[in-house]
Amino acid sequence: MFQNIISRFDPTAGTLHGGALVTRRLSDLRGIFADEEAYRRALAGGDPVVYTVESMEPGDGDGDLHYGIGRIMPGRIGDEFYMTKGHLHAWRPAAEVYIGLSGSGTMMMEDEATGESALLPLEPNGIVYVPGRTAHRTINTGSEPLTYIGIFPARAGHDYGAIAERNFRMVVAASEAGAEAIERERFIKMIRERSPE
Ligand code: ZN
Repeated sequence: MFQNIISRFDPTAGTLHGGALVTRRLSDLRGIFADEEAYRRALAGGDPVVYTVESMEPGDGDGDLHYGIGRIMPGRIGDEFYMTKGHLHAWRPAAEVYIGLSGSGTMMMEDEATGESALLPLEPNGIVYVPGRTAHRTINTGSEPLTYIGIFPARAGHDYGAIAERNFRMVVAASEAGAEAIERERFIKMIRERSPE
């Protein structure tokens, strides 16, 4: 009955003992960053780990929960910060709770139906509630690893397809204020105008 009900994590390292590890390297994130030229240049110089997720799946029943700890390394591709692929839940009504542990970052959320976006801080002692039917992506805007815990219904599932097809409407880029959200189309136009053909 009571199996897999306790676990231990390291909030600074972003590790979960006994969790299933997924590692995303730069080469796994093709099409995620708006500045394709900067992405190609970065990849030519190496294939660093951008983020890891270690997750625990104690049960798969209707009422069960899954959870994981994410760690995003600090870094940028052009003006965009290192970030996760982003996803919707395959079971659309599934919500998720994010708990910030270490480092500083933001969460980009986008309502699937309306396209309405929100950029929210994800920091130690902060919690972000992601409602159902909302695409979400985690972004490290700081200079050290960003770590956090995510808790979601076991039946949520991850749907990366919709994001891979059209990406998020907004890009989060470095600015004088630290980080700002810019419309993707405007951002791409700015890049093109900046770099001579
Ligand atoms: Zn999620």
